[in-house]
Formats: sequence, structure tokens, C-alpha cells
Amino acid sequence: MSTNSAPGGRAGPTAADVVSGVDPDRHADTPPLTVTLLGTGTSTGVPVLGCDCAVCTSDDPHDARTRCACYVRAGEMGLLIDTGPDFRQQALREGIGRIDAVCYTHHHFDHVVGLDDLRPFFFDNPAPMPCYMHPDTAAVLRHNYDYIFGADPYPGAANVRLETIDGPFTVPSRYDDKGTLPVDPVLLRHGDMPVYGYRMGRFAYLTDVSRIPEPSYEALDDIDVLVLDALRPEPHRTHFSFDEAVDVARRIGARQTYFVHMTHNVRHTEANAALPEGIQLAYDGLTVEVPAVEAV
Ligand SMILES: [Zn+2]
Ligand SMILES: [Zn+2]
Repeated sequence: MSTNSAPGGRAGPTAADVVSGVDPDRHADTPPLTVTLLGTGTSTGVPVLGCDCAVCTSDDPHDARTRCACYVRAGEMGLLIDTGPDFRQQALREGIGRIDAVCYTHHHFDHVVGLDDLRPFFFDNPAPMPCYMHPDTAAVLRHNYDYIFGADPYPGAANVRLETIDGPFTVPSRYDDKGTLPVDPVLLRHGDMPVYGYRMGRFAYLTDVSRIPEPSYEALDDIDVLVLDALRPEPHRTHFSFDEAVDVARRIGARQTYFVHMTHNVRHTEANAALPEGIQLAYDGLTVEVPAVEAV
């Protein structure tokens, strides 16, 4: 058994709350997904400023890692997971033209600070954009970005709507079509901090995690493609090491697992070659197709 209450008595949903009520068929109509890993690096990015190590000076493009974010295309719909400091360049690189919603994993700089670069997505379509997150994440973003999320937003601020979630939800289209996309938050621990991973269809994205509470595994059944935090070979207090991530990946049992959030301790070619079958290092721009639930 695991306990899921945060230290210090902070109230928040438990993993049991988050997975309870999940209808196993709720992903049945999810279309094939196209998942693009916009960034795969740790919070500094790689190369690290001022560092002349072999990875930071590598001319292998796989060794250049921007901050973690992910874009999921489901039919016409486009869903973003996090808006880090590299979001604008990532969106330009990948030609992202549509965002229906953002799912935030947690409030750390490397996952949120590109938020303001969502503004151009309202130039032709003023419809509100829901931003889904854990209550603790919402509390920080509401405080830090009062000019966006406050009662009296700055003129021209992104028309984002902060949506605190404690269980499965369905993303509506914000364009002229009738698409919807069911998404399950997956409660994780990043050190002591609660973080949300997200599941849609047979895809799960779990970054910034050092422990998965036992009940959260229930939301990770029958995953085809898993994206998982694996910081570096050496242990770390708030991220999975490679060995820990391999164990977790085997337990979840996805057909293919991709590691993200790597530091400059990780040289792509060598580290990737050493991983077991079914597990690979992701790299910026990697695009993966996830089959529809019904197709399997
Ligand atoms: Zn991070
Ligand atoms: Zn370096």
C-alpha cells in the first residue's frame, strides 16, 4: 500500500481519487495519435550554458535537448503537454498550428514559462483554451501569472482558462469541428511534490517523476507508447534514474517506451545502445504513431 497525502498536510487529490471512476471503455473511440516530443532535455537544456563536456559540444543533433514538452495530434485536435521556455521555437520547428488545450504536469519553470507564447493561437480564434492541472499547480500559476489568470486579465493576454482537475476529463474542440479527446491525469510524485502524468488512448506521458503511487498504475493498463522521465544513470531525489525507469517501464509493459528529461551526462548514441529492447532514448522532434484502441 502507498500513502498519497502530501507532507505538511496539504490537501490534494490522492492517486485513488484520480483513477477512481475510470471507465475502461472511455478511450475506445480515441483515434490514432501522432505524438511529437517537442523537447526531451532536463531543466537546463543541453548543451548546458558554459559547459564544454563531450555531450554539450557533441555535433550529434540527438545530443541537443530543449526543455520537455509534447504535442499530441488526435484527428483534427491538437493537445499540448506543458509550455516550457523553448515552446515558441519548438512550435515553429514542428509547424504547430492548432492547440485545443494544454495539460500541465506541474509548475516548475522548465514546464510553464512559455505560457505567454500561446497568445498567437488566439489571433484567429478567440475561443478560450482550457489549461488542465493539479490544484497545487493551479495555485502557483494563479499567483505567478495573475495578469493572465486573474480576475482582471491584461488586455491581449492569452484567453486561457485554468481548469483544476482531480480525475478523468474530456477535452472539447475549440475549433469548428465536433472533436473531443478523453484524458486521464495520472498522479505522480516528483520528490514530495504531486505532479500529473497524462494518459490518452494508448499513450501515456510521465515526466518529472521519482515515484508512481501504487493506485496510479491502474490508469496505465494497456499502454502502447510510454514516455517516461529518466534523468541520467545516477540516482536523483526527484527524478527516476535509468535503472529505476527501466524497472517502471517493464512493469507498465508498453510496447515501446521512450525516455525523456535527460541531462548532459547522457550521450545519445552510447546510452541508447545500452538500453533493453523496447526502451529507447527520445530526442527532440521524435514523432511516434500510437494506434487507435479499437485497432488492437
Ligand atoms: Zn522538468
Ligand atoms: Zn555539459
